[in-house]
Amino acid sequence: MLTRTKNQEDSVEILAVQKGKGSLLGSEMIELNGITKIYGKGDAEVYALDDVNCSIKEGEMISIMGPSGSGKSTLMNVLGCLDKPSIGSYTLGGVETTTLNDDKLAEIRNEKIGFVFQNYNLLPRMTALENIELPMLYNNIPRSERHRLALHALERVGLSDRAQHVPNELSGGQQQRVAIARALVLNPSIILADEPTGNLDSKSGEEIINIFEELNKKEGHTIIIVTHDSEIAAHTSRIIHIKDGKIDREEVFSK
Ligand code: ADP
Ligand code: MG
Repeated sequence: MLTRTKNQEDSVEILAVQKGKGSLLGSEMIELNGITKIYGKGDAEVYALDDVNCSIKEGEMISIMGPSGSGKSTLMNVLGCLDKPSIGSYTLGGVETTTLNDDKLAEIRNEKIGFVFQNYNLLPRMTALENIELPMLYNNIPRSERHRLALHALERVGLSDRAQHVPNELSGGQQQRVAIARALVLNPSIILADEPTGNLDSKSGEEIINIFEELNKKEGHTIIIVTHDSEIAAHTSRIIHIKDGKIDREEVFSK
């Protein structure tokens, strides 16, 4: 684990070179086949996802749009290995995830996926830096290394000067930047953001989407963003529209 961490900055640079600043997409990172998620039983049965088929390439930046209750968060939970589908196959980096046990799933999640939420989910009594160090506490990374990586993550979101501030001393946009730094501190290949600009004014939202764009182009992270805002979605190269748990249509933009 430690070896991996030490090499992280190097691998970020190598990745950026390989990706040619986002111009070259890699192989399929995510493949969903017949993904169905059923909540409840009998009369109360809800098909939150109903036969979803799609693939997402390494290095893509896409958005997911759809009305409230259409299954966006359920899809993000499946993609993030937080929840298993009831039916269907989900391969992540060539690994079939639906047959893995919870421990193995958690391992993949910790290694490959960073999450960003609408409400930032920062711990109120901890400083920005401590919030970012938190995911590393469970990974046996020594204190000094945690500190160094967290500071570096803050730099990557342009917030080095707020390291010692607690969340309520930061604006919404700044809190979300701390949350993004926390999501990317261990260099996940995929970042999943569920309505990351939902609580922000349009100017702060624009700043946040610009950070995601930069992470995608410079560092090659695969980024998936759920949004209601077509201006935010316009920053991505593909929009998947969901309706009633199904993919309704896709829009692809040449960028
Ligand atoms: P969205 O994020 O697009 O608003 P969700 O994925 O949260 O939609 O929900 C999709 C559908 O699944 C909704 O009808 C919702 O009520 C239902 N649902 C979501 N989570 C659960 C759950 N844990 N138990 C039962 N029903 C759920
Ligand atoms: Mg939702």
